[in-house]
Amino acid sequence: MQDLQNKLREFAARREWEQFHTPKNLVMALAGEVGELIEIFQWLTPKEAIGIMSDDSRAGHVAEELADVFGYLLRLADELEVDLAQALNHKIEMNELKYPADKARGRSTKYTDL
Ligand SMILES: [Mg+2]
Repeated sequence: MQDLQNKLREFAARREWEQFHTPKNLVMALAGEVGELIEIFQWLTPKEAIGIMSDDSRAGHVAEELADVFGYLLRLADELEVDLAQALNHKIEMNELKYPADKARGRSTKYTDL
């Protein structure tokens, strides 16, 4: 993950784009890329969405948009000096406590209502 963040930071620096990579701009770019991912799925049936990676014409587009989302997420975390792996591990631990498997199994209920 650190290698990817370094690569993205260097990519931006070589183009003098750091000036544009403010947290506000990066979070907006991230949301824009999530929007592009949503656009691929928005009119699909649930069955079509599940099988999307079997559709060669759409699979590459999905992978590209996921990469765009991931790239901006990494850039944003880099600029904010957030260790994403550590933050995600922390969230997983918190969710283990909020959603005990014996109570949450097979249910989509919010933790406050378990
Ligand atoms: Mg995109």
